[in-house]
Amino acid sequence: MTTNLTLNNGVTMPALGFGVFQTPPDVTAQAVAEALRTGYRLIDTAAAYANERGVGEAIAASGLDRQEVFIETKIWISDYGHDATSHAFDKSAGKLGVDQIDLLILHQPLPSRFDLTLEAYRALETLLADGKVRAIGVSNFMPDHLDALLKQATVVPAVNQVEVHPYFTQQAVQTADAAHGVITQAWSPIGGITSYRGTGTTSTFGDPTIGEIAKAHGKTPAQVMIRWHLQEGRSAIPKSVNPTRIAENFDVFDFELTATELTALDALDTGVRGGPEPADITLETFGRDIPEA
Ligand code: NDP
Repeated sequence: MTTNLTLNNGVTMPALGFGVFQTPPDVTAQAVAEALRTGYRLIDTAAAYANERGVGEAIAASGLDRQEVFIETKIWISDYGHDATSHAFDKSAGKLGVDQIDLLILHQPLPSRFDLTLEAYRALETLLADGKVRAIGVSNFMPDHLDALLKQATVVPAVNQVEVHPYFTQQAVQTADAAHGVITQAWSPIGGITSYRGTGTTSTFGDPTIGEIAKAHGKTPAQVMIRWHLQEGRSAIPKSVNPTRIAENFDVFDFELTATELTALDALDTGVRGGPEPADITLETFGRDIPEA
């Protein structure tokens, strides 16, 4: 088991990272500082989370060398288009306070305006060629979106960040990613979306199978789910604003799930997506202005 993944362009990325979706801007620096103290070296944010500034502040104040922290952020759909996406890099880099972003990804495919999605990706390819970013990728791309992109792209995305937790495993997406050498990165890796968007009775945290496996290892359900991602070769980016849970989610390197346990976790898939259907994302319904740096 390694704690690093090698992307398809040779760049090394920590497999386990820290997410900040829904982390309020005024507590983001504090949460990220706690994560960096704990040992996380990959931080996942997005222009649309409105907290890139807090991420940058925590990294600058951490005392860590810039090269020691892998920064990932996402371009929002309102900034798709060649010039708009180039400028979106400047906005994100400015808020993060860095010259170079380690991994820059398109937050969503825009199926109704795939022409804009392709232009945005071309801008990422240019940023990569210019050394402004070390790797580029996508998020929420279903296999048909990936195929359509690959027909036009010159650079294969390094990463596809998609919803993956035991209740929604997206096997078809994982298979398509692997076939093209794209690393699948799990968002809502511990099924946060099943509790903050769910009914409360179907949360992964209360699942009996996950609970039993956790008990067998003297670990928590969250730790079991994170371990499942790592052992199956995915990157995972759990989010927390709570120091105890930030530490808990990183304390996953002292146990190993068996093949039977991995299979039991795979079998919990319900096929029910927690997040929005990627095909339904439109500029009209999800567009929003991303402020200047
Ligand atoms: P997670 O699966 O990471 O779960 C986070 C939720 O679970 C929070 O409510 C958190 O609350 C709680 N939690 C954290 N740790 C534990 C624990 N050990 N035990 C019990 N509860 C816990 O869900 P997210 O949706 O936040 O996904 C993680 C990251 O993925 C995001 O932060 C973001 O970076 C990315 N993401 C990307 C998306 C995309 O479209 N590309 C969409 C959604 C997420 P608390 O903070 O109080 O601990």
